[in-house]
Amino acid sequence: MAHTIKQALNSASVLAAVTDNWHLESELLLSHVLNVTREHLFTWPDNEVSAELYQRFTYLVERRLKGEPVAYLRGKQAFWNFDLSVNSNVLIPRPETELLVEKALTLFADNGANMTVADLGTGSGAIALALATERPKWALWAVDKSTAALGVAEENAKLLKLDNVRFTLGDWCSGLPQHCFDGIVANPPYVEAGNSHLSQGSLPFEPLTALVAEKKGMADIETIIDQSRACLKPGGWLLLEHGFDQSEKVVGKLHDSGFSEIGTEADLAGIPRIAFAQWQGNDLK
Ligand code: GLN
Repeated sequence: MAHTIKQALNSASVLAAVTDNWHLESELLLSHVLNVTREHLFTWPDNEVSAELYQRFTYLVERRLKGEPVAYLRGKQAFWNFDLSVNSNVLIPRPETELLVEKALTLFADNGANMTVADLGTGSGAIALALATERPKWALWAVDKSTAALGVAEENAKLLKLDNVRFTLGDWCSGLPQHCFDGIVANPPYVEAGNSHLSQGSLPFEPLTALVAEKKGMADIETIIDQSRACLKPGGWLLLEHGFDQSEKVVGKLHDSGFSEIGTEADLAGIPRIAFAQWQGNDLK
């Protein structure tokens, strides 16, 4: 029996078992399968969905029921003011990370137009590409140690028709030029291995290397703080996202590493989530 758009959406109410957002998620999945906008679904609720497309939709609903995130099922995620292609090689960009972009835009703004900025562990390219769209004159370096992730980021830059981003395979700052950057941003892995959070929501489907770090989640943050000093220009800024309980440790590490003008920003839930600091170009301690 053929189904209408409305019936197809109603059939996805089984998703209420795994998400409070099942209305939105089923609309996103159906509009993906039908290759139409969500508005189309509301305008034409009585249009018929072909048997083949209905079957494809129910297949995605079944996978969603088993926990797979909508972003991977659709192959895209909204971030900033565009859609990013994503797959299971990259972390799904989070709304908190848009705060990092906002902070970078204000923090790096004073130094003139031709800024050079690196996004370390770029993944889908979210941060680098948002900065590149907002500041066409900036030169962005999108760095990742995963070739697969870098491929996703490059594809996204092409879709957004950006030509001010270069892609570099590398482990944090290794291989980057010295004293070259006005800003370095990163949303590194910061979750402690074995944390119960890792078995919840979309996390079991996301790349562990993008989520988990040694030393109670601090290892990569510490490496970035150490290494970024040689790559920043005097007066350059480092801007990091970190875990909900890491603010004090990150601020302490920035201080001990010789950074100044250290500050923090809270996320949408009011939890300190971002740390930033300026490198004055002192001798490395
Ligand atoms: N904020 C993410 C989460 O806890 C983790 C992202 C990260 O490790 N950088 O869901």
